[in-house]
Amino acid sequence: MVVKHPLVENSLAVLRDLTTGTDHFRRHARLLSQILAFHVLADLPTRQVTVHTPLEDTSGRILDRNVVFVPVLRAGLAMLEAMSDFVPGSKVGFVGLERDEQTAVAHSYYQKLPGQLAEAEVIILDPMLATGGSALATIDLLKENRATSIRLACVLAAPEGITNVCERHPDVSIFTAVIDRGLNDRKFILPGLGDFGDRYFGTT
Ligand code: URA
Repeated sequence: MVVKHPLVENSLAVLRDLTTGTDHFRRHARLLSQILAFHVLADLPTRQVTVHTPLEDTSGRILDRNVVFVPVLRAGLAMLEAMSDFVPGSKVGFVGLERDEQTAVAHSYYQKLPGQLAEAEVIILDPMLATGGSALATIDLLKENRATSIRLACVLAAPEGITNVCERHPDVSIFTAVIDRGLNDRKFILPGLGDFGDRYFGTT
């Protein structure tokens, strides 16, 4: 699903702009992640409860599903706080994948996942869906750990990455702010925004 909103377009333009500094980049990455969160979490189940207001009892609805966010290190951390703020009590699993700059193949250097993934809604946070290598490796790992309901939240997606994820894992829903044109020979997204992690953490 492509999340369409004027505020998303505005933040995307800021993120893409090569003159945008780290502070501004972080601010708009956060804003965009918050808007994405509304869509990624839109159909979470709720259950009815009784709420005691200062005046009388009424009924309310509270979330009825465990949520686990899995940021793919390191760029996925940029989306974590913005999204998890909406779900108090959510758990966080970490997957460390590093992309070989020459081959664009992702290899895992760290993983720490909470238990009971089978009963949770698992949301992968990975801002740049390029070839899909990191997403596929993360989905494989989550399924090996019994996750049954997985969503992928990203900021920019390339058609190649979407195709690869959809072909291998048609059960995983993808949420993105935009689908870009494609990839260059170094597997960077075009027109893209460069290296998301470098720009967010100021390591350019
Ligand atoms: N990761 C990034 O940070 N940027 C790209 O364009 C592709 C993958």
